[in-house]
Amino acid sequence: MPTQSSHSDPIDAHIAQQFYIDGRWSPPARAATLPVVNPATEEVVAQVARGSAEDVDRAVAAARAALPGWAACPPVARAQVLDKIHALILERKEQFAQALTLEMGAAINFARNMQVPLAAEHVRVARDVLTSYRFQTVERGTAIEREPVGVCGLITPWNWPLYQITAKVAPAIAAGCTVVLKPSELSPLSALLFAQLIHDSGVPPGVFNLVNGSGADVGAAMAAHPDIDMISITGSNRAGALVAQAAAPTVKRVTQELGGKSPNVLLPDADFAKAVPPGVMSAFRNVGQSCSAPTRMIVPRDRLSEVEALAAATANSIIVGDPRAEETVLGPIANLAQFERVQAMIEAGLNEGAKLVCGGPGRVPGFEKGFYTRPTVFSEVASGMRIAQEEIFGPVLCIIAYDTLDEAIAIANDTVYGLGAHVQAQDLQLARAVASRIRAGQVHLNYPAWDPMAPFGGYKRSGNGREYGVQGFEEYLETKAIIGFGQR
Ligand code: NAD
Repeated sequence: MPTQSSHSDPIDAHIAQQFYIDGRWSPPARAATLPVVNPATEEVVAQVARGSAEDVDRAVAAARAALPGWAACPPVARAQVLDKIHALILERKEQFAQALTLEMGAAINFARNMQVPLAAEHVRVARDVLTSYRFQTVERGTAIEREPVGVCGLITPWNWPLYQITAKVAPAIAAGCTVVLKPSELSPLSALLFAQLIHDSGVPPGVFNLVNGSGADVGAAMAAHPDIDMISITGSNRAGALVAQAAAPTVKRVTQELGGKSPNVLLPDADFAKAVPPGVMSAFRNVGQSCSAPTRMIVPRDRLSEVEALAAATANSIIVGDPRAEETVLGPIANLAQFERVQAMIEAGLNEGAKLVCGGPGRVPGFEKGFYTRPTVFSEVASGMRIAQEEIFGPVLCIIAYDTLDEAIAIANDTVYGLGAHVQAQDLQLARAVASRIRAGQVHLNYPAWDPMAPFGGYKRSGNGREYGVQGFEEYLETKAIIGFGQR
């Protein structure tokens, strides 16, 4: 099996070609690998073992065997393990950041300051929720007990690789579940580091298991597996629906965090000089590859030219370049398929007659290699256009004009998605009223600080279920009512 590993790689090639099952590294049932491509250079930087249904069987058996012991482990002991995981993520921040930059092109300082510390936050939150959670309440003589749902299959995407992993693994193991993780085959390096970290954190064998591979092989086998009690997937709507279909015969619980096309409604009284630049930066954060990115800026028609000028100035000031460079704000798009999709959507915007304010198709000048994309702003976008309806998952912002408040809200709700939303206004009463009319799982008023305790998830086709905080933790619990519990 060829590898391109060298001493400077963050991943040991030996580990990359194994899975972490039952507390140790072990080779796959069949010898096959998947290449990992650095999107900044388009070079293969690692070969990772490609799993199959047999590997899933082994991992599920280990998770099943570990379940009774872990579920019975006192919360305080589980919390100590989470503390250790949290501390080690922060301790190994640089190693994770380098892996993220290599596998999906995150700008190194973005990886250091956002991708890794926010991933650690999910672990802290899960620990905090666990330590204050009441697993049993008694009312009217009936006890309501919350128990771990069982063995969980966790399927994650490539856009925020470590963050998506901790958002699932931390609450699952905090709740007393055991897990099998399948990270995206496009970004498996940070997941391998995470498995090493889990080992070093003293997590008992079988509680956490990692199998790499494709969605069609490993992911589908997990979704259909009779001994997996719950599947949580973050990814495309296509994969989310396939997982639900494959899971249906075994009636397992399925939670889905899928796509988004989040609106950012600027009300007329907002301070536009303060509202537009952060809106553009949020839309382009992580090169626009965030499911909740506010990619539709909905603005009063008579302020369109002002918004365009502010948006263009912001977009043109963004440094796009080598993700290893300290000053880079946006690296490349994470992979070739996504790069091609973003290019096709920019072309679609032009063909549909949207006004190109800045950016446009083609690679960033000066970069012949790497999936570098020009931060692109379209204006005079009609809500029915493809660029206003479909998730682009790249640095492309659509500015859509409205004439009345009702129209602004109708546009905000005019997609199949309902993940995030933003409202900018000075009149907070009005902002709250608008928030209550938007069908989305999270609404942000005037760019507040991130609240990792706030439940995150989608209305409509953005998914089912919630992550983060108490609600995210409770997704991994079953409910048992013991009636007559209080009798004498
Ligand atoms: P994807 O849905 O193809 O992959 C996500 C995960 O699901 C991966 O681990 C993949 O291997 C797995 N998977 C794929 N098919 C599966 C199947 N049939 N059964 C089980 N698991 C399966 O998404 P992607 O390639 O990572 O990204 C493609 C699109 O998904 C993006 O363009 C974007 O629209 C969307 N996306 C959304 C989010 C989000 O957080 N909401 C994250 C990443 C991608």
